[in-house]
Amino acid sequence: MSKNVRVRFAPSPTGPLHIGGVRTALFNYLFAKKHNGEFVLRIEDTDQNRYVDGAENYIVEALNWCGIPFDEGPGKNEKFGPYRQSERKHLYRKYADELVSNGKAYYAFDTADQLDAHRKDHEAQGKTFIYNWHNREKGRLVNSLVLSEEETKAKLESGEDYVIRFKSPQDQTLQLKDIVRGDITIDTNVLDDKVLFKSDGMPTYHLANIVDDHLMEISHVIRGEEWLPSLALHQLLYNAFEWEAPQFAHLPLILKPTGKGKLSKRDGDKLGFPVFPLQWEDPQTQSISRGYKEDGYFPEAVVNFLAFLGWNPGTEQELFSLKELVNAFDINKVNKAGARFDPDKTKWFNHHYMQEQLDLDLANTFKANRTELSEIDTNYVALVIGLVKERATFINDFWDLSHYFFMSPEVYDEKASKKAIKEDTFEILQTVINIVTSTREFTVQNLQSKIKGWITDNGIGFGKVMMPLRLALVGALQGPDVFEIMFMIGKNETVKRIDALIKHFN
Ligand code: GLU
Repeated sequence: MSKNVRVRFAPSPTGPLHIGGVRTALFNYLFAKKHNGEFVLRIEDTDQNRYVDGAENYIVEALNWCGIPFDEGPGKNEKFGPYRQSERKHLYRKYADELVSNGKAYYAFDTADQLDAHRKDHEAQGKTFIYNWHNREKGRLVNSLVLSEEETKAKLESGEDYVIRFKSPQDQTLQLKDIVRGDITIDTNVLDDKVLFKSDGMPTYHLANIVDDHLMEISHVIRGEEWLPSLALHQLLYNAFEWEAPQFAHLPLILKPTGKGKLSKRDGDKLGFPVFPLQWEDPQTQSISRGYKEDGYFPEAVVNFLAFLGWNPGTEQELFSLKELVNAFDINKVNKAGARFDPDKTKWFNHHYMQEQLDLDLANTFKANRTELSEIDTNYVALVIGLVKERATFINDFWDLSHYFFMSPEVYDEKASKKAIKEDTFEILQTVINIVTSTREFTVQNLQSKIKGWITDNGIGFGKVMMPLRLALVGALQGPDVFEIMFMIGKNETVKRIDALIKHFN
């Protein structure tokens, strides 16, 4: 790569970041790190009407939680700053003016009502109104291409509202390049003359985006496919300024689990899985949207599944740490086709990353979540976790899988009781109590060899002993090895539980 790689993630703070946005950030991050480049965060907040309090903070927290922090951005390494477009407001005007004076853009004074009337007029004739070469100079529209210089000047000086529109070229064929899509040919006659600068003194997305990418020396623009229709205009703007354009890569859409249609912000609530990295409380309605973090996902799992939405290494390998992703990532292997979102797969990844966590770390989180555990030694909790985590996908699963390590069963599962308790059960369990009591060195090994030895010596059915014993300890016919459980809860508690079962049923 000839130029220094500098990429940017440029969200608009209009609400919480959807996982599609996090995927865009991740691909930018991976590409930057792969090429020893910089990952820049730029906040595109030129549309004041859509600004949402807390959204910028949310974006930063989400990136940090995923472990993909930006190198440059608001409050960090500000060598190309400021990084919020609202703070760069003073910069854009001169670029819009430059285009006007070169004849590449023009002032337009059409009011919203006038434009609306044109639109309705066209609709009535079964046509679509497009503000561009075919009508901009015809006199029905009010702009500096039709008005005389004096008239334009007078309007500007009188303080009339106006916008600056880009003068899309007529009868040109544009050859665009996209790393993901390949070559794209566009007939400029289909383009409309987009607004670059608004009467409120703010640039539109298009102008600010191009100016900033240029000033911030962005080498590659990696963004969602929904921006592909803007590519032609952006390329034309680079041409108009005579700036070298960055390379573009438009990432494929993320599709609903059915594969039909784009995954939307509302799908999470409807389909029962989070679509946001972190929980979000809407500042206006106070309604809460679930987040991966709060739902118990590990950031490693989220990063891993996001990486596979539109990319794969071309091998069978599915499990990748962030470091491994950086090494393996290849922007040329990003797919064109939409990527189907699979909520079950996200769980599969989480289950995997659960196994990789340290039991002690899991124990701390588990303890923090359950008041019942506050008095219990963390090392003990960690040992319990070591025994059950193979069956857990989320930390929230731990309590169901392990409560009997911390307290005696309060109820006995009915079906299990019917299966486990027979006429001779109480006599058998009494003998088990005797064996347990007489076991001096209370280890898994000793318990196992003594109890199993007694079973085989007396030709008792294995299930006749193990089932009621498990029921006494757990309250159900589940859990890891019975001898492990006995060892963990200790001799006294074991005896107490067997005794409690005898008393309960006898
Ligand atoms: N502000 C745009 C967004 O919200 C950025 C698009 C781009 O990356 O050019 O997604």
